[in-house]
Amino acid sequence: MKEIPIFDVREECGVFGVFGHPEASNLTYLGLYALQHRGQEGAGICSTDGKSLYIEKSIGLVAEIFTERRLKRLPGFAAIGHNRYSTAGGSTLKNVQPLMATFSLGTIAIAHNGNLVNALELREVLEQEGAIFQSNSDTEVIVHLTAHSRAEGFHAKLVDALSRVSGAFSLLILREREMIAVRDPYGVRPLSLGTIDGAYVVSSETCAFDLIGAEYIRDVEPGEMVVISENGINSSRVLYSRKRAFCIFEFIYFARPDSFIFGGINVNEVRKALGKNLAKEAPVDADIVIPVPDSGMPSALGYAAESGIPFDLGLIRNHYVGRTFIEPKQSIRHFGVKIKLNPVKSILKGKRVVVVDDSIVRGTTSKKIVKMIRELGGAKEVHMRISSPRTIGPCFYGIDTPTRRELIASSHMVDEIRKYITADSLAYLSLEGLRASVPNPDDYCYACFTNDYPIPFPSEQTEQMELLFV
Ligand code: AMP
Repeated sequence: MKEIPIFDVREECGVFGVFGHPEASNLTYLGLYALQHRGQEGAGICSTDGKSLYIEKSIGLVAEIFTERRLKRLPGFAAIGHNRYSTAGGSTLKNVQPLMATFSLGTIAIAHNGNLVNALELREVLEQEGAIFQSNSDTEVIVHLTAHSRAEGFHAKLVDALSRVSGAFSLLILREREMIAVRDPYGVRPLSLGTIDGAYVVSSETCAFDLIGAEYIRDVEPGEMVVISENGINSSRVLYSRKRAFCIFEFIYFARPDSFIFGGINVNEVRKALGKNLAKEAPVDADIVIPVPDSGMPSALGYAAESGIPFDLGLIRNHYVGRTFIEPKQSIRHFGVKIKLNPVKSILKGKRVVVVDDSIVRGTTSKKIVKMIRELGGAKEVHMRISSPRTIGPCFYGIDTPTRRELIASSHMVDEIRKYITADSLAYLSLEGLRASVPNPDDYCYACFTNDYPIPFPSEQTEQMELLFV
């Protein structure tokens, strides 16, 4: 039997870049700071002064990594940065991006959000041809394919490489005198273009533009390659797909509510609509609606507005639970929830409570929360409402979901889950209700709720994926 893949197939990340600004690395630092929610395992920035590339990266949070001294070591007028999400296997510095490589056409740095589904297959071929990989990251495949391409010139080599990879990629590439932004033809992960002081900025989410005072121009379109240099901005459509597959989970959980993604749609508005539709589909006689902070906040507001039931903050989150705290393993998860959330007895005591959260993955969090609201908070009834459909399939395109076996809804009916989490009632938003909450619903990937994966995997990869994800 083949070896289990050593790639990390669970990458969520954030990318940010700026070209044509004297404070490029400082702005990138701030951009990454605003995108911290997209990845907390490690971060890096690579800058250029037109002659050389400079890089600083580490494990940890953006504010911990980038001291003034380190930022001073990143001179120049352009920079790209990356936040990496904690993953199952690859928690080492060598996987922290940007990745840098030097080959015949110079040095490049690359920052990638998304996940490639044929990386393993391509890596095998490349290794047979003599390529030596430095990391476990699928992103490195793009670097090797570009270096190996016989096409003329860097841009053509890159496009040639990208036409061979399959999956999700919102990419930023830095060379000595240019920055390139490319998005996969399905547009799985968001990527926005903006401007500040005459310079261009590119970010996974627009919340980073708000922090630095940049203006949003438009999205980098699916399949588009944007080359930004001293000659200005040059856009071309280089990759093609008949359909789009914007990740619906960005709206449900992952992106920040103040961001505008997938064509300038506000995340908070969609989340509120999810809550409103959930209230229409799954009403309940209750005294208060409370969110699971922070993920359930906008949808709980929507649920309360639609149902007319008063909204309150019945659970308080400790925002300072950082990585200095030992991440609890499954066996001590109960403790993990308690350290993050505490019920407010004066709000909950004797009440019939609707608790709104964005999703149930393993079910562990909901179970602890229901118990906490009932036993510590003194609630009379606890009604769980989830602002997305049942999560039944793992994501292969860059959202960190556990194996299918661990997804409680992949093997349990709603009432079984209700019993497991010990709620008086449980309801999920329907797929129709989800689709009704976004414009152009056919443009989205719903695979985690339907098992209908819009970007196909190579057959051999599917077998290996199954080993990992069944
Ligand atoms: P679980 O205990 O596994 O059911 O986790 C459910 C909680 O995890 C919910 O409160 C979600 O907001 C949150 N969640 C959902 N998806 C993710 C993800 N990909 N990464 C981290 N947390 C998530």
